[in-house]
Amino acid sequence: MIDSDLDPTFQSHAPGYWPAEAMNDWNDPKWQLRNRVDSLTDLEARLELTDVERAGVLLAGHKLAMAITPHFFNLIDREDPNCPIRRQIIPRIEEGWNAPEELSDPCGEDSHMPVPGLVHRYPDRVLFLVTDRCASYCRYCTRSRVVSGVGEQHLETQWEKAFQYIERTPQIRDVLLSGGDPLLFSDDRLDRILTRLRAIPHIQFVRIGSRIPIFLPQRITPELCAMLKKHHPLFISIHSNHPRELTSEVRDALGRLADAGIPLGNQSVLLRGVNDSVEVQRALVQKLLICRVRPYYLYQCDLINGSSHLRTPVAEGVSIIEGLRGHTTGYAIPQFVIDGPGGGGKIPINPNYLIDSTPDSVTLRNYEGRVFEYPNPSQALVSVLDKLHAEAMNGRCC
Ligand SMILES: *Cc1c(COP(=O)(O)O)cnc(C)c1O
Repeated sequence: MIDSDLDPTFQSHAPGYWPAEAMNDWNDPKWQLRNRVDSLTDLEARLELTDVERAGVLLAGHKLAMAITPHFFNLIDREDPNCPIRRQIIPRIEEGWNAPEELSDPCGEDSHMPVPGLVHRYPDRVLFLVTDRCASYCRYCTRSRVVSGVGEQHLETQWEKAFQYIERTPQIRDVLLSGGDPLLFSDDRLDRILTRLRAIPHIQFVRIGSRIPIFLPQRITPELCAMLKKHHPLFISIHSNHPRELTSEVRDALGRLADAGIPLGNQSVLLRGVNDSVEVQRALVQKLLICRVRPYYLYQCDLINGSSHLRTPVAEGVSIIEGLRGHTTGYAIPQFVIDGPGGGGKIPINPNYLIDSTPDSVTLRNYEGRVFEYPNPSQALVSVLDKLHAEAMNGRCC
């Protein structure tokens, strides 16, 4: 952590590790993608690696590719081998070690696909995996089995079949586009996908899950926002884990999306050594509100292969929520969830504020630990009142 991580300030980190001339192209998203750090040579030219990281980078080529946009790379603190940005995107040798409880498909998605690329787990909504590529790769990716294209499995979205399944399934009212990162598509391609979905009468709501506003804020152009705006109601869930990720460029990109009328939520993953403290989480969620983003979910890290070094005990998440509730704005508090291993879906986990419950009353504690009793309505009184009401109604009718 660096001191400014806990300040609600927005900084630019450009050009950082790049020469000043790079600033000529800095705001071009294509330049950012072309200049991603994606090889050991690139990485070592900029940063002194530890042995654990060097071995991790070599392994990544067979598991989940490494790629880091210059914009995001600049958030790395050169001086700090435990930098919270570094832990999210620079591979480590621990990724090669699979704990017995870990899985390649921790959320059991493959078994819930009526059509390849379309996950239908909940009754009224689907998860549509539209691409296997991202602007940068998170080392704890829950979909690393298919994302980045170097693993053993490949994403083979059947576009026409997926659209037809949604068209003929009227229970589906909500489509979530994810992947991979849908905002890597061109404006035209996204426009065509959204137009096709919007033409389905039972689709009430579309959302996009994307880390592009954090990895590549340059992609959030006025043209993209103008196109998205045609497809309301459209929500976007971003993915930010640490307050340092909210730079001035990111704040401005999020502002453009919000100005286009797109409600923004944030999904973060609780990660050891990245954001596993109340202090960092409080700074993150408060800064998100300044960026007009409502914290939505805080995920317990999925049991993805090679994630032991990034996972925290479940109690840690509960105590973080306890440290936020009451202590900061209610809007800033995400729901802590665990995706039930093997396909249980998102299960909310909350601190316990209900100490006791009887038919007559409940005993509660508040955020300061003070105890309160709230009585239920008296059943005897309710029946007397209902009877009086019935009699009065009878009197009026007859
Ligand atoms: C997360 C998820 C959704 C969306 O869940 P919400 O709680 O509505 O945000 C839908 N389908 C799948 C398979 C998911 O994993």
